[in-house]
Amino acid sequence: PGKKVLIVYAHQEPKSFNGSLLKIAVEELTKQGCSVTVSDLYAMQFEPRATRNDIAGPLHNSEEFNYGVETWEAYKRGGLSKDLVEEQKKVQEADLLIFQFPLFWFSMPAILKGWMDRVLVQGFAYDLSKSYDGGLLQDKLSLFSLTTGGTKEMYSKGGISGDIRYVLWPMQHGIMHFCGVRVLEPHICYAPENVSAEKRKEMLTAWTQRLKTLWKEEPINCSPEWYFK
Ligand code: FAD
Ligand code: ZN
Repeated sequence: PGKKVLIVYAHQEPKSFNGSLLKIAVEELTKQGCSVTVSDLYAMQFEPRATRNDIAGPLHNSEEFNYGVETWEAYKRGGLSKDLVEEQKKVQEADLLIFQFPLFWFSMPAILKGWMDRVLVQGFAYDLSKSYDGGLLQDKLSLFSLTTGGTKEMYSKGGISGDIRYVLWPMQHGIMHFCGVRVLEPHICYAPENVSAEKRKEMLTAWTQRLKTLWKEEPINCSPEWYFK
């Protein structure tokens, strides 16, 4: 109760399975007394490209453009573009970040990757020697809630696609942990398109159930062993 949650959502269709998972999270967390904010990236027409348009005003070095340096400098002088400042404010205020999306090519949809690329700016999310457990977004939790086309068997260690944890490594460890954010167990709905209607209902119920006790969960031990052992 009283916790702030930001859900960063990347699906084009509200009637989709991802849309249903989003709706459940908003309803359940709101019911618990959390304040929930949604960044509906497609609906916002969120810009995924990291370009010089992200810097308002003059560049630090106008001779040779370096996106990392320019956004870092712009962050420090309050010169990032408005859409980035808004997302950073939402992140800053949140106790929990939930990412809701379908797996695209063993990764996140480009629009969500663009959110990561553009919002988690140096100086804001991490800094020189301020990364991993020392990252700037400490005391926040994250949860990756994703759907797949492939089955659970395919995403097992001996399966054709390999352990789903291999896919989570860049997202959970490379991005969230790098920025100091602790990581809750991922929530994966396997192959919602290819299961029975009953199974789909079961998966949605399981998400509701998980959310009911979410605040009692401990973060995972996000280290290479969790992913690759
Ligand atoms: P939907 O098709 O929206 O949902 C499935 C069904 O659930 C639909 O019939 C929908 O009507 C129904 N439904 C929605 N809400 C409810 C409800 N409340 N109750 C009951 N039924 C409901 N998959 C991989 O495994 N690996 C990849 O690398 C990969 N790469 C991809 C790359 C691209 C570019 C694309 C487009 C897809 C890729 N996929 C991949 C597949 C993708 O991950 C799945 O298509 C996606 O996760 C399915 O989720 P969805 O929300 O879009 O499903
Ligand atoms: Zn980690």
